[in-house]
Amino acid sequence: MSASPELVTKIERWNERFQKKSPDEILAFFLGEFRGRIALASSLGAEDQVLTEKILKIDSNSKIFTLDTGRLFPESYDLIARTNDKYGCKIEVFFPEAKKVEEMVNQKGINLFYHSIENRKLCCGIRKVEPLKRAFKGLDAWICGLRKDQSVTRFFTKIVEWDESNGLIKINPLLEWTEKQVWEYIKANDIPYNVLHDHGFPSIGCQPCTRAIKPGEDVRAGRWWWEQPEQKECGLHGKSENIKA
Ligand code: SF4
Repeated sequence: MSASPELVTKIERWNERFQKKSPDEILAFFLGEFRGRIALASSLGAEDQVLTEKILKIDSNSKIFTLDTGRLFPESYDLIARTNDKYGCKIEVFFPEAKKVEEMVNQKGINLFYHSIENRKLCCGIRKVEPLKRAFKGLDAWICGLRKDQSVTRFFTKIVEWDESNGLIKINPLLEWTEKQVWEYIKANDIPYNVLHDHGFPSIGCQPCTRAIKPGEDVRAGRWWWEQPEQKECGLHGKSENIKA
């Protein structure tokens, strides 16, 4: 879905205006501008935990949601509970449609994703893409934890973008932050984070599709490690490097 010319102009103006602003200033503006029609789509990663803390400080009623694919690490479920306890919030959890999961598993096997790219995309489609579309219903904008230094292709990402595949405005408040800044902020503010980050998991997704990486390996090498890099696409945001869930 394309953005109208008026919206394209608006987005350009917002980018000029917020180019040098802090994540707090960006969040405060867009949470107000789209009140009730904006959400953080949290992957429960380090950046999204920072955003959760910052968003709730600005507006404790803000919508924050995550996807439970049914195949997450126990540590990820624990993180949802710890975050809710710490901030007195309720991260909304979206599940895949039970019937579709049943059909898929009974036809193709519980670990179908290891057998072919097609199977893996089917699983991601049912467990992630469809629930995400449902979670986005009624929204005009969503907040995302992308950072420029996560990959070369993210260098050209803007603070405000038109997300064509979801027909929504996408806000990237942490775009200019480094990984060091993220972790310093987490430690300084005692923000709950996934304990797997302390055990070689920089990027955490579903348990059967995520492994720890060795020193020097690319941060995303542990995701769908059995596939070639160019095949790592799950349909959430398009290219693999943009997948946050
Ligand atoms: S990451 Fe793996 S388990 Fe999770 S939805 Fe995709 S294929 Fe299925």
